[in-house]
Amino acid sequence: MGGQPYEYRRRELVEPDWTRLPGWRGVTREQWESAQWQRAHCVKNVNQLRAVLGDLVDERFYADLVADQQHTATMSMLVPPQMLNTMVPHAAPDTDSFYADPVRRYMIPVASDRLTDWTSHPYATRDSLHEHDMWVAEGLTHRYPTKVLAELLSTCPQYCGHCTRMDLVGNSTPAVDKLRLTLKPTDRYDGMVDYLRAHPGVRDVVVSGGDVANVPWRNLESFLMRLLAIDTIRDVRLATKALMGLPQHWLQPDVVEGLERVARTAARRGVNLAIHTHVNHANSLTPLVARAAQTALSVGVRDVRNQGVLMRGVNATGEDLLELCFALQGEAGILPYYFYMCDMIPGAEHWRVAVWQAQQLQHAIMGYLPGYATPRIVCDVPFVGKRWVHMVTEYDREHGISYWTKNYRTSIERDDPEALSKRYAYYDPIDTLPESGRQWWRKQELAAVA
Ligand code: SF4
Repeated sequence: MGGQPYEYRRRELVEPDWTRLPGWRGVTREQWESAQWQRAHCVKNVNQLRAVLGDLVDERFYADLVADQQHTATMSMLVPPQMLNTMVPHAAPDTDSFYADPVRRYMIPVASDRLTDWTSHPYATRDSLHEHDMWVAEGLTHRYPTKVLAELLSTCPQYCGHCTRMDLVGNSTPAVDKLRLTLKPTDRYDGMVDYLRAHPGVRDVVVSGGDVANVPWRNLESFLMRLLAIDTIRDVRLATKALMGLPQHWLQPDVVEGLERVARTAARRGVNLAIHTHVNHANSLTPLVARAAQTALSVGVRDVRNQGVLMRGVNATGEDLLELCFALQGEAGILPYYFYMCDMIPGAEHWRVAVWQAQQLQHAIMGYLPGYATPRIVCDVPFVGKRWVHMVTEYDREHGISYWTKNYRTSIERDDPEALSKRYAYYDPIDTLPESGRQWWRKQELAAVA
């Protein structure tokens, strides 16, 4: 009998030894586990990266990074030591292993990673999901009938190269001048709470940003308590990649105690309080990340779930996804929930996968994990929202155009009689198309220029 396509083996989590990196030879465990130390030692530019890695990685890499930052990057650099330490985790990196590392590929993108022919899809846009267009108050996106997204702020403790909110989140880069939140935070929060009080049909609030780990705890707790005081709110989800990128934040005593007060209030009012995090590769899961997740569960958060992003070169194989899911589910107490297809933002073509590839990956991961912990791979279709990748209505594989339908109106379509009968398009990366399809797109591009 043949073997299984995937052989499960339990792997215990290990904190990679940070003293293998020249810049952190003298860093103590106490420093490492301090959120302040982690925040103060984030890598924000090539010189700071060089100070950590020294000549383990040669100048070719650093020049490649500078070229990307100057010309293409949609996000500025911000990598907490915790995340940098999970790149080439089991040895001192060298140039080749650092280039090849899956976490490096999305946290520290370089110019040579990008596709040269089609760096961006012709239909790529900033704010590709039109979240800003659907703001009903500053930072409050009302896209689905019963749910809203509350972007409390526009910063994170870490910036991911593929960030779908590249329009708003982080500092401007030479390629992207960011949208700015203009209200004072207290006025922004007031506007959100007023809207939710006035709209009892909204029952579910994703509290996000940016990353809620950058909201001073006292302000976040006060906002959450105001949400929990609205009878009609039944689900609250806190979005924080920092649970993985800066678990030290979620382990600080004042944060843990505050989270416990919020969880107790949520439980008393019968509200489902959950944390949603964003882990893309098994290497990112370390004992500190597991401790942060388990601490949140132990103080009464009902669930910690993962929403990863599917990316070529990072995790787009059945084996990578299953390794990550088993580590989440079996070692960290984090439920594998979704994998999103990487959105159609500028500069993302080398990360994006085609719909058919996502369908194959969904097929490849079925049957290994418990059913409730088998993540759905979803395509966030502009103007539609999340659709399971098998829900495509029609699919032109030659040109890489899939068509999708929906069963609700977003907040900007209330008066559109066609909204529920239209088909909405999504586009595969052009380099994944057959030659005839690629030529067709080249002709479209030439026609647009002429
Ligand atoms: S943590 Fe989330 S919001 Fe922040 S940069 Fe990464 S993907 Fe964007």
